[in-house]
Amino acid sequence: MSDIYANARSTSGTSIRRRDVNPQSGMCPICIKECTVMCEVGKSAFRGREVLYPEPEQFGDSTASSNKDYGLDWSHFQIMTDVIGAKGIAADSNLALFPNADVTTELGGIPMLVPVYITGLGSTDVARRYWDTCAVGAAISGTVIMPGENVCGMDTETKFDSNGKVSHSAELSRRIESFRSFWDGKHGDVGVQTNVEDQRFGVDVYALSKLEVNIIERKWGQGAKAIGGEVRIADLEKAIILKKRGYVVHPDPEDPVVQKAFKDGEFRTFERHSRVGMPDKRSFVEDVEWLREQGAKHVFLKTGAYRPAVTAFTLRVASEAKIDQITFDGAGGGTGMSPVPMMNECSIPTVYLFAQVMHGIELMRKNGMYVPDISFAGGFVNETQIYKCIAMSNHDSNPAVKAIAMARAPLTAGMKAQYFAELAEKGRLPLSFSEKYGAKPEQFFVEHSELEEKYGADFKKIPPGAIGVYSYFNRIQVGLQQLMAGARKFKLNLINRDDIAATTDLASKVTGIPTVAEIDMDTFDEILLG
Ligand code: SF4
Repeated sequence: MSDIYANARSTSGTSIRRRDVNPQSGMCPICIKECTVMCEVGKSAFRGREVLYPEPEQFGDSTASSNKDYGLDWSHFQIMTDVIGAKGIAADSNLALFPNADVTTELGGIPMLVPVYITGLGSTDVARRYWDTCAVGAAISGTVIMPGENVCGMDTETKFDSNGKVSHSAELSRRIESFRSFWDGKHGDVGVQTNVEDQRFGVDVYALSKLEVNIIERKWGQGAKAIGGEVRIADLEKAIILKKRGYVVHPDPEDPVVQKAFKDGEFRTFERHSRVGMPDKRSFVEDVEWLREQGAKHVFLKTGAYRPAVTAFTLRVASEAKIDQITFDGAGGGTGMSPVPMMNECSIPTVYLFAQVMHGIELMRKNGMYVPDISFAGGFVNETQIYKCIAMSNHDSNPAVKAIAMARAPLTAGMKAQYFAELAEKGRLPLSFSEKYGAKPEQFFVEHSELEEKYGADFKKIPPGAIGVYSYFNRIQVGLQQLMAGARKFKLNLINRDDIAATTDLASKVTGIPTVAEIDMDTFDEILLG
């Protein structure tokens, strides 16, 4: 595969003067002096390390991901439909209707109305700004949401006790309350994710004891990068506070030369980095025991797309610690701010990672080991991908994958809905949109009346963005029901590997799923002639 985007990527705001680029370098075949186009090399001559990141000017109102084609993704599988009988419901044409397909699930002991949940909305500005959108959207959809790492550490109002532990965080408290204000108390829940910095600040104990959360998630990494959370800080005073709290801040906001450069507009944002964890088996097992003693009812682990040996280590350790759930996050997903080269070139792409995890789980089951629930993340956007992932994790009416974790897609749904509601208020909706769907939220949100009826006077407190998240999850739910009904499987735990065929030899080789040409051929002749 040629590397034609090596010198121009929309993620980093770079482009190229000529289209017929060198397929190895991505540079114009002829590079000239009088070129004003900002390619990767050209822009780096001015902005240096900034060009490693998604456009800094968009930070806070954007998400980004890899744009590399890994040669294997969920589109390389086909869902097999059926016409004979029905499973999970009576084989009755009046009952085997797609709205009767049951898509509810349970993840790490938490019942959910849809097999998707929102994860990793941490200390990036986009996560903070759209928290209410996603949290209320998750609550009214009956699913889980996990605030990401560093929420307390980034809140300048956070209060610490004499031991440097968090004693009050208005921001974390706001996030929990936002979800709970629309939670039915039965489906989904809100937890707290903790990385190295959070553990240093005692965020876990604060969340369990003061905010009474039920879920703590330890974070080892994410598919988009493996070097800890990063955000941009546009405020010098805040950058200094964060440095004093022990964060790695670049450039040094206490250096007078740096301060002058910042004030002169040489650069507009500081980078704040988190440290990486150093997990080992014994300490992790002890840590999980300790979390349960502190009151954690559910312990989750979120890990990135590290090399296969680390996946084996993760499964082993998680099994010994008997954690409730692991989220594996494959390369190809999204982020608020990760280096573009890392997003594109590092880690295991989702389908390959999925195959490695499934191999591990089969081994664990054969050897009588405890198997935690699994959720997968890494570029999921629709019901067909979700269906394939859950089905391919199921050998025996017990899919290993209980749900799909998403961040970028629901954020996009929420951002879009919020933005269009703002445009409607200003009378500035695109004509092409308002002519088709109406100019008022009660017209263009197709779920508006249903939610208004359900929530009565409280409906006004639902942010427009949350209606967007709800509608998006509703589309996924109905889409899944249709696919399940097409396969005549009316319960989520019944969709299995037999329902999937691979469209390429590579997809088949990596996952062990037969190709479209092979599936059912062992019984084909007998059915025909028998
Ligand atoms: S600087 Fe050279 S390689 Fe970059 S866009 Fe201009 S001509 Fe092309």
